[in-house]
Amino acid sequence: MLTVLNPATEELLAELERAGVGETDAAVARAKAAFPAWRAVAPADRARLLRRLATLVEEHAEELARIESQNVGKPITGARGEVAMVAEVFHFYAGAVDKYHGETIPVAGGVDLTFREPLGVVAAIVPWNFPLNIASWKVAPALACGNTVVLKPAELTPLSALRLAELGLDAGLPEGVLNVLVGKGSVVGQRLVEHPDVAKVGFTGSTEVGRTVMEGAAQTIKRVTLELGGKSANVVFADADLERAAAAAPYAVFDNAGQDCCARSRILVERSAYDVFLEKLTAATAGVRVGDPQDERTEMGPLISADHRDRVASYVDGTPIAFRGDVPEGDRGFWYPCTLVEATNDDRVAREEVFGPVAAVIPFADEDEAIRLANDTPFGLSGSVWTRDGARALRVARALETGVISVNSNSSVRVATPFGGFKQSGFGRELGMQALEGYTEVKNVFVSTEA
Ligand code: NDP
Repeated sequence: MLTVLNPATEELLAELERAGVGETDAAVARAKAAFPAWRAVAPADRARLLRRLATLVEEHAEELARIESQNVGKPITGARGEVAMVAEVFHFYAGAVDKYHGETIPVAGGVDLTFREPLGVVAAIVPWNFPLNIASWKVAPALACGNTVVLKPAELTPLSALRLAELGLDAGLPEGVLNVLVGKGSVVGQRLVEHPDVAKVGFTGSTEVGRTVMEGAAQTIKRVTLELGGKSANVVFADADLERAAAAAPYAVFDNAGQDCCARSRILVERSAYDVFLEKLTAATAGVRVGDPQDERTEMGPLISADHRDRVASYVDGTPIAFRGDVPEGDRGFWYPCTLVEATNDDRVAREEVFGPVAAVIPFADEDEAIRLANDTPFGLSGSVWTRDGARALRVARALETGVISVNSNSSVRVATPFGGFKQSGFGRELGMQALEGYTEVKNVFVSTEA
């Protein structure tokens, strides 16, 4: 039996049966059986069903936000924003159903056509930090392209995915088109990765598990998209609007209690502005409101589990601390304070993904060193550049080895724009029209026009 907890209170939210290999095989069989009819649904009708699901998500937005907030411990205001994005994702891909198609290519002796064909059964394996959001990034484009889906949420946070599947049926998705399996990654996840009837795995999670997914997928030459960890840099030049950069920086790390693959957890600051920036950053960090996720004013909640809190704490031991915030009193909940440490880029806290509210502040001498330090990591997911010099902003953005970068902003994710990593942050892109590439195969058809 799986027990699902509220990480802010440690209260029991649900007890669920765990699926095993047999249930996984049965879900894949249901998805396989549903595929021929689903791919044959007229595009306008498939779009209408996805749009109906988007509307149901909007109508149940508050319920879904409460589920997500209670299960992940995230502030209710942030959870509402995430659910709004989920609805937008389904609307976007409903609109894309009949706008993503093949080409005609000029060739000698006939007509050449390409078709974008669905792959078949897609397994979507998602983590616990943005459960519904990340599920929608995979489920919506996969269904839009005519695939059927088996979704595996993380064991810690399965509740919103189960509710999404119910809403899918209410929207009119045929039986078997969207299946959800609750179970261990090492059992259900691994079986999905190895199953010969699964055509593709869309995986978001740690780089470590991503590696095993890639290995497992190799046995059947499965398609994979991997959205993995990050160690992104927030590069602050002395000519930036320091007030604005310092006010924004805490939310680039402490949002979702730092359990964010895009967290800019290395704050690189030009040495000439280091002291003044650190002072402003410390003041802004002290202002982050940590507490009950159900309180409308709360900006940061607890970590997901006691084990995870121990892991986060291990990064801070022995490192000089510039600032440490407060956590709610009492002995319930997996709290960890907002923490700023002064570090070098070689310290463990700056090398590994902490996935908690800990930011390493690191000085740099000039633009060349900023680029060198920012790129000196095995990851390459996200990042920011803060400067008033437009040419420098573009120069540095182009030089950074990362899939997503924002200038004078923390924003990483938008529905219409591609998201994904360089280097060990993974490959393949989610969101935007680019995501559709990952859920289709190109078929080329040549028709002779010889008399
Ligand atoms: P994990 O890699 O531990 O788990 C991710 C998912 O994979 C879970 O559903 C898990 O199941 C499942 N899983 C575990 N083992 C296997 C296996 N052997 N085969 C198949 N599936 C398996 O990551 P976390 O859930 O701990 O999430 C945190 C990580 O996710 C961080 O590293 C973070 O950077 C990354 N992430 C990346 C994002 C991106 O877009 N790049 C976005 C968000 C997070 P279960 O937990 O139920 O056992």
